[in-house]
Parts: sequence; structure tokens; C-alpha cells
Amino acid sequence: MGVKCLATVSDGSKYDMPITTKKAKTKLGKLQWRHRNKVLGNKKLQVLASNKAKKYYVRLSRQHLRISNIRQDVTQKMTTDLSRKAYNIRIEDLAISGMIANCKLAAAVSNNCFYEIRRQLVYKQAHYGTKVELVDRWYPSSKTCSRCGHIQDMKLSDRVFHCKKCGHSQDRDENASINLENAPPDKIRLA
Ligand SMILES: [Zn+2]
Repeated sequence: MGVKCLATVSDGSKYDMPITTKKAKTKLGKLQWRHRNKVLGNKKLQVLASNKAKKYYVRLSRQHLRISNIRQDVTQKMTTDLSRKAYNIRIEDLAISGMIANCKLAAAVSNNCFYEIRRQLVYKQAHYGTKVELVDRWYPSSKTCSRCGHIQDMKLSDRVFHCKKCGHSQDRDENASINLENAPPDKIRLA
């Protein structure tokens, strides 16, 4: 699972969050900005919300619902697709709360709903008979060369992995997904 791309699979396929989530979020921001001067009500000061503000609250909650519906649709379709395709599904045990604390990553991480994807994969195990495994979060999947095993430092901004030892070069997430597939058994536990 990644920040740029929703998910990258080691067989070469990719899943993306559609651009519509971004559009819906922009619309939400515009809605909030356009109604910034409305009397929104204040319980402490006993100010009641104006009638226009009440209508605005309805539109606001509808827009929030729309964003969450799009995310649900995409993640449900993706996890069903994965569960049908593969028996053994291996994902990274990410430190998500730490990633959300990083303000540069927070929006992308919460948009890609990592926890939700993991939850869905885990509960679909019973239905599709799959096996979901978690790879240790300290396993250097992004920093290892998937061809020769050389480990080197990677910045988050480096989107392509260039191996300094064997010259192998590959998309960062594709390289990491192959490493997850080949992870040693002592780094893996059942989800
Ligand atoms: Zn290499």
C-alpha cells in the first residue's frame, strides 16, 4: 500500500484512488469557504443557527457522505478483486498513526484508508478462503533490491529504485511489493 498509488501488487497490477475523491474534497472546501460568514450557531453563547445555515449543514454532511461513499466503493471493489485473484495475500503492517502524525502525509494516508483495506481483507478471508499475512513493519521492503538483496537508503521522494550494486532499476512500489512476497518467514505473522 502506498501514498501515491492506492496499492501495488507483485504481479504488476495497480489500484488507484480515483480523481473523483480529490474533486469531491475540493468541492467540500469551496462549500465551507463560501459559507464562512453564515450564523452557524453557538451553544455556549445561546446563538441559534440561521435557517440558511441549517440548509448548509445538510449540504455539508451530504458532501462528506459522498467522499466516504467513493472511498468505500473503491476499497470494497479492490479487496474483493484481490481476494478472488490470490490465495495468499501479504501486506505491510504499517505504523499508520505515525504516518498520520506527519502532516505532509496525513491527507494522502487518510484518503487511501489503509486500516479499512486491511480490515476488509481480513474479514473477507472467511468468505473467499484467503490467507492474509502481515509483514513486520521494520522489514526494509522499500530499501532492498528485489533482484540482488542489496539494502540502501531511500527517501520518500525517490519514486524509482536504482540499485547501486547491480544497477537494477524499478518503480519503488513494485520493488517493495516483490520484497514483501519474498519476505523471510520470521518477519511474517497472520493478520
Ligand atoms: Zn541490486
